[in-house]
Amino acid sequence: MEHFMEIGSQYPQELIENNEMINGHQNAASRKRSIDQRRKMKGLLLAKKKNVSETKSGWIVKGSHGSKHLVTINSEGHYSCSCEDFRNSNYVCKHIHAVRAVESGIILPSISTLEKQLNSLRPHIKECTQNWSAYTNAQSSEERLLFEILKNICSMIIEPTEKKRGRPTIPIQDAIIAMVCKVYSMKSGRRAEHDIEIAYEKGYISRKLRHTTVSDYMIKPEMTSILTALIELVSTPFINIETTFAMDSSGFSTKKHEPWKQFKYGIETKKRKWLKAHINVGVKTNIIAAVAITDSNETDQNKFEQLFTATLENFHVDEQMADGAYCTRDIFEAIDGSGAKPFIPFSDHSTGNPKGVWVWTEMYELFQQNKIEFLKHYHKRNNVETTFHMLKSKFGETLKSTSESGQVNEILCKILCHNICVFIHELYELNVSIDDLFEKKQSMPFMHVVNNKGIHVSYSH
Ligand SMILES: [Zn+2]
Repeated sequence: MEHFMEIGSQYPQELIENNEMINGHQNAASRKRSIDQRRKMKGLLLAKKKNVSETKSGWIVKGSHGSKHLVTINSEGHYSCSCEDFRNSNYVCKHIHAVRAVESGIILPSISTLEKQLNSLRPHIKECTQNWSAYTNAQSSEERLLFEILKNICSMIIEPTEKKRGRPTIPIQDAIIAMVCKVYSMKSGRRAEHDIEIAYEKGYISRKLRHTTVSDYMIKPEMTSILTALIELVSTPFINIETTFAMDSSGFSTKKHEPWKQFKYGIETKKRKWLKAHINVGVKTNIIAAVAITDSNETDQNKFEQLFTATLENFHVDEQMADGAYCTRDIFEAIDGSGAKPFIPFSDHSTGNPKGVWVWTEMYELFQQNKIEFLKHYHKRNNVETTFHMLKSKFGETLKSTSESGQVNEILCKILCHNICVFIHELYELNVSIDDLFEKKQSMPFMHVVNNKGIHVSYSH
């Protein structure tokens, strides 16, 4: 079931059917996706029914049973809601979806259309469908397109020529596609083998691969730079569309626990280990232009330069958004130096003293004296949160890999899937078919970039 209707984008007119059944059961991942879809649809219905009103303290959203909930936005642009759904799961609840729909001013279809769509998202208990061919068009086309596009871009990988004796090697293309297939399935180890077998049967990979082989590749640190290059590559069709970017980081948790000292009480406990994904996102489409994965101790500021530089390699940046964690003169200076404008909120103890960075003072004055104008730009930062939400709700936020290099690559596989899905969504928006894309590859900027650049890989066994 594809989210062709992410917040922040145009609303699709057609009904998207939900019929994601394997042997009569929805799997956990697809169930989670459809719950999330229903929250969104319910939110859009609330917005359409004009149940949202703005007050001094925030937005009051009247729920379907008459209950009222308060949705607030803090100074960093984070939404929260007083409802139970939000407090328990911390997921974007239907009330926040409603507020976002009202704020974005998107034109919603009629109430009856929305209700029909909501109904279609109800979990079905229907007769068994034995194989993938029973997926609905919407479902199978996203999955098919994802792997076809992936296969196409992976064919740009230049395989290493030298072979070392004694060790069987598989093409890196196959390894990458199988890794993405495993991550996309949200299954671990042996349970993903069936999905990888189907990828072989469908011709996405050239040979059958054991799950252990896929795991071997998943932990290779060399795969990190290849995956990062692929993610950046898939963002390049958007170079003429995206000029405003939003940066943030968010955690992905692992199954491992590590010792953790609670300073307050002086006792040592165990805490779940997690990794941080730092991303820079184009605010119109939610495409991820740059990415870095670090451990949870890394600060956001430290990763700014790497991400911003990577973004500038492909994009012309007019405005760079980030929350208060990025509020340093160095960062303001770097953004200004590229010709872009920094939209980063100041903290209470910031002063307007430029200390040589004049854009700091300029933005400080705008922030203090014309908050409305500042926020007019800054609200676009929400899109980076939407992007993390899309990523986590669709591809999962708990990592299956046990080694750190495996975890890094696993997050990158999720991000690659996200970017390809954004690309597919835009294909639909532009009303082009995938066949058009491959037929017209000479005239597609996307393919030009691929052809000009290629992906050169330094790779060793
Ligand atoms: Zn709520």
